[in-house]
Amino acid sequence: MSKHFDLISIGAGSGGLSAAERAAEYGKTTAVIENNKLGGTCVNVGCVPKKVMWFAAGVAETLQDASGYGFDVSLNQFDWGKLVEAREGYINGITDWYGNYLKDSNIEHIQGTARFTDPHTLDVDGERYTADHIVISPGGYPVVPDVPGAEHGITSDGFFALKEQPKRVAVVGAGYIAVELAGVLNSLGSEVSMLLRRDHFLSDFDAMLRETLMEEMMNAGVNIMSRVNVERVEKQNDGTLTIHCQSGVTLEDYDCLIWAIGRAPNTADLDLDAAGVQYNNDGTIPADAYQQTNVEGVYAVGDVIGKAQLTPVAIAASRRLSDRLFNNMPERRLDYENIPTVMFTHPPIGTIGLTEDEAREVHGDAVKIYQTGFTAMYHAFSPHPQRTAMKLVCVGAEEKVVGCHIIGMGADEMLQGFGVAIKMGATKKDFDNCVALHPTSSEELVTLR
Ligand SMILES: Cc1cc2nc3c(=O)[nH]c(=O)nc-3n(C[C@H](O)[C@H](O)[C@H](O)COP(=O)(O)OP(=O)(O)OC[C@H]3O[C@@H](n4cnc5c(N)ncnc54)[C@H](O)[C@@H]3O)c2cc1C
Repeated sequence: MSKHFDLISIGAGSGGLSAAERAAEYGKTTAVIENNKLGGTCVNVGCVPKKVMWFAAGVAETLQDASGYGFDVSLNQFDWGKLVEAREGYINGITDWYGNYLKDSNIEHIQGTARFTDPHTLDVDGERYTADHIVISPGGYPVVPDVPGAEHGITSDGFFALKEQPKRVAVVGAGYIAVELAGVLNSLGSEVSMLLRRDHFLSDFDAMLRETLMEEMMNAGVNIMSRVNVERVEKQNDGTLTIHCQSGVTLEDYDCLIWAIGRAPNTADLDLDAAGVQYNNDGTIPADAYQQTNVEGVYAVGDVIGKAQLTPVAIAASRRLSDRLFNNMPERRLDYENIPTVMFTHPPIGTIGLTEDEAREVHGDAVKIYQTGFTAMYHAFSPHPQRTAMKLVCVGAEEKVVGCHIIGMGADEMLQGFGVAIKMGATKKDFDNCVALHPTSSEELVTLR
């Protein structure tokens, strides 16, 4: 006998939980199937623990800045274990809350691994569950390269499991997770090397952002090594790691190596063939603008579709999907254009829309750039001042703002409001018409010339 629901989500992460929650609000019978912890990547091994570590790194930086403001502070010690314990306690509070919330909302929580047996039936450890609508939202996992000795390294999941602070760390990778983890470790006092395959990191982002961040990270003591391809990793008798590079160079004495080279979708266990759901070679599932897969009644949301892999994207797409299915809103869907992104780097980054290069490729000479760089007032008193840089990418005679890129203290909180303006189609004149907030860094964005 199988149990039937209106909607089942595979995965209780950002996407799956949101689809089920919204459907339950419309009085539908729903279930989430989860083979790990409630909350998924974001809560357990992503945004939340990462942001806690970033806050801790910020405290370390503030302590260093204190002398500039007249404080004579002596630091006794930083207890990594204590921070991790507090962080995990905070996360357990969130997952416990989710457990109660699901019960209160009449969303059935099924613990186990879901596998399709046909387009409307899932098997979980021998039990069968059927649904009119199945939302595939299994997220992804961090990739480890296929090189000898790779198992001596850890991934972002392993980073969050570290009970002791590593002293000498190599971070391999060039995406936002690599720069975020490298920055946190460096600010907390580890000796950090970043190993990049090419010349720079964050290649998909505006050049101003990556160039400023690279300079700031180097000033802060991160050893950035370009054009390094890891050939193999060797563990020595004393426990340290030696990294052998394709160039013949050998890097020695690391007590931790973090692979941050990308993520792959969790689709291998789903038996998508049994449901006839098409997937790409890399395991991602193609979905149309309405999150629909090639099979009617089966949808894909979140990281598994391979684009804009961010928690609010997974949440927004899932809520809109349930609105469409159960609240008579046939056109309801997420617009994937102009999605704002922040990076919790040191200093942080906020970015939305086209990079300067992308804009020039599409709009040629119609592009006008407004840009500034300065040291924020806070850092005038800091022994380690950080730069702020801002850029507006505008197009056409009306100077429509098609890109906004900020790096500097507060950029993470600054972008949301500017994101609203850009999403509404704001022009440079609209920016200028807004009276500045003074004294702030964000005022520069409405006074650019
Ligand atoms: C280190 C790190 C930092 C990040 N920082 C940010 C950030 O600051 N801001 C931001 O917006 N995003 C961030 N992200 C990305 C964000 O976490 C993801 O975009 C988001 O979690 C995707 O949600 P999802 O629902 O698609 O998948 P997930 O949240 O990964 O949830 C999928 C769930 O499905 C479960 N599952 C998988 N297969 C099965 C199966 N067959 N049966 C049952 N259950 C299954 C998994 O265990 C998992 O719990 C970060 C990610 C990482 C790794």
